[in-house]
Amino acid sequence: MSANQDFIYLSPPHMGGREQHYIQEAFDQNWITTAGANVDGFEKELASYVGVPHAAVLSSGTAALHLALLTMGIGEGDEVFCSSFTFVASTNPIKYVGATPVLIDSELTTWNLCPKALEQAMQSRQQKGKLPKALILVHLYGMPSRMQEILELCQHYGVQVIEDAAEALGSTYKNQQMGTFGEAGFFSFNGNKIITTSGGGALISQNKDLVEKAKWLATQAKEPTPHYHHTTMGFNYRLSNICAGIGRGQLEVLEERVQQKRLVFANYQTLLQDLEEIQWQPEPKGSLSNRWLSCFTIQKGSAVTPEKIRLALLADQIESRPLWQPMHQQPLYQGCDYFGENVSDDLFARGLCLPSGTKLTMSLQERIASIIRKAFLA
Ligand SMILES: *Cc1c(COP(=O)(O)O)cnc(C)c1O
Repeated sequence: MSANQDFIYLSPPHMGGREQHYIQEAFDQNWITTAGANVDGFEKELASYVGVPHAAVLSSGTAALHLALLTMGIGEGDEVFCSSFTFVASTNPIKYVGATPVLIDSELTTWNLCPKALEQAMQSRQQKGKLPKALILVHLYGMPSRMQEILELCQHYGVQVIEDAAEALGSTYKNQQMGTFGEAGFFSFNGNKIITTSGGGALISQNKDLVEKAKWLATQAKEPTPHYHHTTMGFNYRLSNICAGIGRGQLEVLEERVQQKRLVFANYQTLLQDLEEIQWQPEPKGSLSNRWLSCFTIQKGSAVTPEKIRLALLADQIESRPLWQPMHQQPLYQGCDYFGENVSDDLFARGLCLPSGTKLTMSLQERIASIIRKAFLA
């Protein structure tokens, strides 16, 4: 996300205007550290926006997931189920705590976790006599997962849910914000996400103790003594007061960004509606995606590959990306148990993410659409 002014990036930052006001306040108070008014304010404002009582803002989404697993007492000898179709940051923290990931495939109506594959995985673990400690449920590209079926299954088996809403801030399922359905949820404020603090994340929960404990672990697990007494291994996972200031400014424009992302998606759909070989990520009734990235797959049997389109766009200084490579395909996760029918492998093979910046103009979208159309007609 740097100096090349002509290059069109996938999802560049888009400042709202008030970020520097909050940063200036921190400078005026000489409060350039990892606590302060912006940190407290950002936590309160974020919790209130999504509708939970408690939030901890942290150095990254990955750190938030790591702390969620630790505060839920998950470690060595435990299994954690996770959506396989995701970014590696959803699964790595399972390894950080010494637990074992079990990967679950996707289904086609959301591209997210398949309830049927989840049920098979639950049944297999019940037969073995040991259920997983949690399910990490990812809402990919902002699309809400099939919450009703998944939550029912998890309730039935008594398995807690951690929502990976890193890409889904502002998305809703039956008017409820993603991240608020499980025991814990987390967001990312990395530079490419719908709002950014340059780098950062947040853990949210209804459970006060969970969030309080996460904050304590994020602060080197300092005991309340003046002499730095320690009983537990902690981490330095806090967000700075400066970055939290950026977050406060960004949160003020989140609603607008969701509308803009949805408009970008709708424009692509309209511009390319004559190409029947293109299938957009579906949005089931009752779900509202923030459309963090506009993604499509190319119909099976088409002569056009996503790579052909990606290279054609790149030749014109436009970035696009394949969909996430599923975790069960990764050398890093070789040997992990996996449940599914390779739906995500198929999506990965046929999919592409288009530039989805909220400053994208209609004329740029027309340019992108015409390059894609040419790839199909050539
Ligand atoms: C970005 C992302 C994360 C991790 O967030 P960071 O803030 O980059 O650590 C986790 N899961 C998914 C699905 C993401 O896209």
